[in-house]
Amino acid sequence: MSTALLNARVFDGSRLGDPATVVIANGLIAPPGTAAAETIDARGAALLPGLIDTHVHVTEVAHLEAAARWGVTTALDMGCWDAGIPGRLKGLPGLPDVRIAGNLANAPGSHFVKHMGFGPSSTVTGPQDATRFVADRVAEGADYIKIAVEDPKIPGTKALSPETVAAVVEAAHATGLLTIAHVVSADTLTVAVRAGADIVTHTALTSELDAAFEALLARRRVVIVPTLTMMDGVVRNIGGKLIMRVLGTLMPGMRMRYEHATATVSTFRKAGMTVLVGTDSNDNVKTPCQVPYGESIHEELRRLVDAGLTPAEALRGATSAAADTFGLADRGVIAPGRRADLLLVGGDPSADIAATRDIRGVWIGGTRVR
Ligand SMILES: [Zn+2]
Repeated sequence: MSTALLNARVFDGSRLGDPATVVIANGLIAPPGTAAAETIDARGAALLPGLIDTHVHVTEVAHLEAAARWGVTTALDMGCWDAGIPGRLKGLPGLPDVRIAGNLANAPGSHFVKHMGFGPSSTVTGPQDATRFVADRVAEGADYIKIAVEDPKIPGTKALSPETVAAVVEAAHATGLLTIAHVVSADTLTVAVRAGADIVTHTALTSELDAAFEALLARRRVVIVPTLTMMDGVVRNIGGKLIMRVLGTLMPGMRMRYEHATATVSTFRKAGMTVLVGTDSNDNVKTPCQVPYGESIHEELRRLVDAGLTPAEALRGATSAAADTFGLADRGVIAPGRRADLLLVGGDPSADIAATRDIRGVWIGGTRVR
């Protein structure tokens, strides 16, 4: 089966080009001039690479179906107590392409173990345990290594030591795997960046980042997946709880504000760091906020633009920059030979990000999503 999209204005990473023909054949973008069995007139529409959600938790086919309908063609799972749950969702035809982290590194006695169902293999007892932890993840099929960098100043929190975080990063890199650090505050961002994590996810919430952190960023390359949609949910659902309101009154440094999350995005952007689009979509009632699958990527794009990214920067954060960061060389741009992961929308999302919601068609590996 082959399809020619006629008169589509292709997003090139910065802007829309003039109307052109894009041919889908054998699951890939075909060379220009390739004949096609079927034609679709895409006049007035914009053709984007399929969206890459760089932070999800998927456990069911229905999650992928919802994501696909909203234009998500790649879903990067960022942690599950049983790697086999998202692992079973890998490689399903016509659905978003899944990658997994499996168990995430956490401290003995942490809330991941006590309340989220993570097993003993996920806890790292110290730097000497890092190689074992990474080997266990490789054995369960992890595509990258996720590390929970928690803040021991938050009451009741068990956190990995900075030395342990650094040892896990080093062990992951020794096996050729990227590391993604879950962070919750300015201090944990500092620990993660000093440890050499490739990617940090979430933002500071209880304070802005200071000049010392900016100086640290000036010496390091690190990508951020802010998950602003989740950060807003955390502020509303946890920051509003009585204990946090009391703590925030007693200790102003413990007051959660969404503005601290958008300020984190500004700090990274000004430092020239890549900002990626990740939603933290999940339907687990034990998390601070259940973020819907699929639709939330459009909400996240909007929030990133509100936080200061240009629409084109936000779109790159869900396409080419996401593919580059995670080594997905076969996707992220519309070019001959790449996977035919495509999103056709009305209007011009490089000028008005809300246009990504006006979905006219989605293709995953050349298969149209119905
Ligand atoms: Zn998450």
